[in-house]
Amino acid sequence: MVDKQKRGNQHITTRIVQANGVIDPQTGGVVPPIQSSTTFARNADYSQISPDHLYARDDNDLVRLGEDVLTKAEGADAGLLFPSGMAAIAAVMRTVPNGGTIIIQSQIYWGTTKWVRDFCARRKIALHEIECSETAAIEAAIDAHKPNLVFVETPSNPWLRITDIEAVAKACGGVDATLVVDSTAASPVLSNPLAFGADIVMHSATKSINGHSDVLAGFLATADAQSEIWQAIAMDRHDAGAVIGSFEAWLLIRGMRTLPLRMERMSENAMKIAEFLDGHAQVEAVLYPGLKTHPAHALATKQMPNGFGSLLSFQVKGDAKTALEVCSKLETFKRATSLGGVESLVEHRHSIEGDATGVPENLIRLSVGIEHIDDLIGDLNQALS
Ligand SMILES: *Cc1c(COP(=O)(O)O)cnc(C)c1O
Repeated sequence: MVDKQKRGNQHITTRIVQANGVIDPQTGGVVPPIQSSTTFARNADYSQISPDHLYARDDNDLVRLGEDVLTKAEGADAGLLFPSGMAAIAAVMRTVPNGGTIIIQSQIYWGTTKWVRDFCARRKIALHEIECSETAAIEAAIDAHKPNLVFVETPSNPWLRITDIEAVAKACGGVDATLVVDSTAASPVLSNPLAFGADIVMHSATKSINGHSDVLAGFLATADAQSEIWQAIAMDRHDAGAVIGSFEAWLLIRGMRTLPLRMERMSENAMKIAEFLDGHAQVEAVLYPGLKTHPAHALATKQMPNGFGSLLSFQVKGDAKTALEVCSKLETFKRATSLGGVESLVEHRHSIEGDATGVPENLIRLSVGIEHIDDLIGDLNQALS
């Protein structure tokens, strides 16, 4: 992997692997201890025993460490962990006033689209769903609607569309809109949207950041901790209490140590699978930004200099029945939703979303894990034949 990004005097790979090099000050432990207490005692004169520890909703050292590692990895000014990706998205959206305007990218993660539609209807917020990977279309929409907030997802799930973050950031700047980028499919080691002008980057840390399919978490990071919107998000998290617990934060930090290594292997495996599928007689189309035939391959290479990630979709020749047959024959790929874990997963999105969202019935989405490539390609080969 070409990790050229340094934070201070170290590459982000080194910082993530060493969890910022933190040693437990009490014992010298190279792994941080789990502090489970929710409250912290005071001295007889009522002063705090530790000035940094009063009540666990805010004062959780493991949450602080996880936030610090991810904030540095994104090259951000500040970052906050949430109990899930959706909780992070909800915290951002709640900053938009009643009667305001939001643009979200169309055909993205279905959970986002569904929640934002309901939220905007309840709050009398005008919602426009625009295909942000078409730069001229999103520029025109920003100009016409003058939104408070623009939310893009790149690469998008399950279409693998790539949005030009720099161009959209510029258009947002012109109308004072906040640009939020869901960078879940890329992870902080493959792409840093703030460097291209996004105001806030969002992750479902449930996916590759944790990487072991055993923690739900979300993350937001900002380019400007003093901005009004970030202050509102920080206050909302503090006052409304959307925090993760000590054990989840500990697992997250443990999982993150191998994030650079996992993303490297996943990207390598996904690339080989994309090439295999691209040449297969039973396959109609492969959607993967690493392929030279992907319409935004050049842009993806610019925005994701370290690899193209684990998410990949392909369309089989045939209908829903054919696609479901292929899914049912897979053995190494497990039939389950989610992505970014060490184990490879397969998902038939049309079975989940139906006709309403436009996902083709012959589309199969893969989350490529870190298993041996021959076993993964062998499994796909037997399922397709
Ligand atoms: C999974 C996912 C989310 C939601 O995150 P949760 O942790 O499941 O709440 C948001 N965006 C994308 C792109 C996702 O894949």
